[in-house]
Amino acid sequence: MEEVKILFLCKALKQYSKKYGMETHCTAGLRLNSDNEITDEWVRVYPIKAKAANNIKKWDIVRIEVDDWNPDPVRPESVRSIPTSLQPLNKLENERAKFEIIVKNLEKGDFLHEEEGWKGKSLGLIKPVRPRLYIEEDKIWCEFDCGSEDCHLHKFQVWDDYFAKSWFENPDEIRRYRDLYFLLGTIRKRPWIWSLISIFDLPI
Ligand SMILES: [Zn+2]
Repeated sequence: MEEVKILFLCKALKQYSKKYGMETHCTAGLRLNSDNEITDEWVRVYPIKAKAANNIKKWDIVRIEVDDWNPDPVRPESVRSIPTSLQPLNKLENERAKFEIIVKNLEKGDFLHEEEGWKGKSLGLIKPVRPRLYIEEDKIWCEFDCGSEDCHLHKFQVWDDYFAKSWFENPDEIRRYRDLYFLLGTIRKRPWIWSLISIFDLPI
């Protein structure tokens, strides 16, 4: 069985999968190379059994077994995993190192405005301008400017499982947020629609 090692940066909200008969998360991160160095290559890993991801945090380094390296022709970053195979290996704890990884992989939000921007690309990291987070119909939403010259504000649903938990269980943590970065991703059934799948606060 082949495996992928990733710096774990995203766990989307839990969803029940009929196909797998279990609660699952879609996850994403940056791939490690064969020397265990963190690369700039984004990877989406699905499905991950929800219970297997319970103790996994953002910035953990994990190993996951892969059974299909190209399950989704529209979203080239995707790999299909064995749902129960997630194993933690290590943690990245240095705040400066985290910040440098974010900055290195930052993009302008132009891909959100290109008509074909979603073709061949389904993950992207941006620095939002004036983000505003709020609740609407029991879901968390965010309005923000993506930094592109063409931008007239986006409204995306927040799919970040960690962020949602903090929002409802530990709102003080959210209030301390100072310097936000957003990982955006598309969904399989409608890959032209982007959503906010992970939020980072790195006030360095
Ligand atoms: Zn925009």
